[in-house]
Amino acid sequence: MNERRAFFRELASAAREARKATQMPEPPPSRAPAPEPLADDAAERYSRQLVLPEWSEAAQLALREASVLVIGAGALGSPVATYLAGAGVGRLGIVDDDDVEVSNLPRQHLHFTPDVGVPKAESAAAKLRFLNPEVLVEPYRVRFDATTAAGLVAGQDLVVDCSDSFATRYAVNAACCAAGIPLVEGGVVETSGLVMAIRPGETACYRCAFPEPPPPGSAPSCAEAGVLGPAAGVIGSLQALEALELITGAGEPLLDAFLQVDLRDHAMLRVAVHRRDDCPDCGARSL
Ligand SMILES: [Zn+2]
Repeated sequence: MNERRAFFRELASAAREARKATQMPEPPPSRAPAPEPLADDAAERYSRQLVLPEWSEAAQLALREASVLVIGAGALGSPVATYLAGAGVGRLGIVDDDDVEVSNLPRQHLHFTPDVGVPKAESAAAKLRFLNPEVLVEPYRVRFDATTAAGLVAGQDLVVDCSDSFATRYAVNAACCAAGIPLVEGGVVETSGLVMAIRPGETACYRCAFPEPPPPGSAPSCAEAGVLGPAAGVIGSLQALEALELITGAGEPLLDAFLQVDLRDHAMLRVAVHRRDDCPDCGARSL
């Protein structure tokens, strides 16, 4: 076992040397006390990401120090929360006020058949604690709306919106813009979806890209139009990737753009968007 740890440490060290060799910028020094270095078991747990050229021990420590709120523990929230907990985020809040239904099970992989009737936030938290006991998982069995928004996003380093309604999506965007908290948006229906990363005050927000929600009745819900599990898995995985990039600084987040994914045609389209001065959520007149 010690040999394995030594091996992974060597790999991580080699990755750091490679970063130096390519003169990639190091994160700016923080005035906060230096975090404790990774323990041996953490170095082994996260070894496959630590050896990535764009990752580093600093990225891993940034993830460990981060608090992330996932809104919705359903088809998108399942892959998002799984990958964030697996990757080693320090604190993970799960917001959902629904109970597990049997019709959820084909695509909401944090819930199993014996969980039917159990609150989704609790069901998800139980699995995530098994996945990674190092993560502090906090279930919130509440609805994200105007009365709960500010309290839920306060103190978070990142919010990932995995809700399934336009009303919630716009409420999340407004709350994150008001609090200046980075956000990853996502949505899926049938076999297509959308992903967007947002740094409020710096890059286009969801309302900059989509100023008004679709008229009532014009955009069918997943219950009406259907959704295929693997499609939700793809969109949720892309959201998790954006979240990791925003937290760690590794990679290039999908900022000032959204990715339109149509899996029936195997097509991905990156659409550029820009901040709008008159955006009621993030525009110069609103902040
Ligand atoms: Zn905006």
